[in-house]
Amino acid sequence: MDLKKYVTVVEGWPKEGISFKDITTIMDNGPAYKYATDQIVEYAKKVGAELIVGPEARGFITGCPVAYALEIGFAPVRKPGKLPREVISQEYALEYGTNTLTMHSDAVKPGQKVLIVDDLLATGGTVEASIKLIEQMGGEVVGCAFLIELEDLKGRDKIAKYDIFTVMEY
Ligand code: 5GP
Repeated sequence: MDLKKYVTVVEGWPKEGISFKDITTIMDNGPAYKYATDQIVEYAKKVGAELIVGPEARGFITGCPVAYALEIGFAPVRKPGKLPREVISQEYALEYGTNTLTMHSDAVKPGQKVLIVDDLLATGGTVEASIKLIEQMGGEVVGCAFLIELEDLKGRDKIAKYDIFTVMEY
């Protein structure tokens, strides 16, 4: 299946100069959503994932069906103030300013093989912060999977020592 047909490129959103890749037009098509998910499921099997971790909010959409298909767990990465129990936090740099991501401090078990799943790899800041949270809990990041990689932004360089799988490249 040519999955790119189902990605809607929105020029100038959320601000001028950005060419946003909208994946809701993958999700609202049953066969396309299943096909996209199946690619990541196969990769997850290959790397022996025992837990899926996904950053809010599109990492949930992309990662949860993978966890369901493999009958393994899913743990969310969220913005501060969203998770109800004790959390660990990781700050990362944006173009202007910083962002913080959190996980429940018991979300990953020591030695657990974790696959991070998100819709898109841009600068790599989100996935790098997620890796730090997982490793702080003693988890082993066995791979990072994305539906889309924006190659020009070189996010891959930030996570060069990890295994990376992408379904589509732009
Ligand atoms: P990074 O941290 O790699 O710079 O950005 C990746 C995060 O931003 C992902 O969680 C992703 O959901 C979001 N993101 C950035 N640009 C886009 C885009 O063009 N399309 C979509 N769907 N998500 C984006």
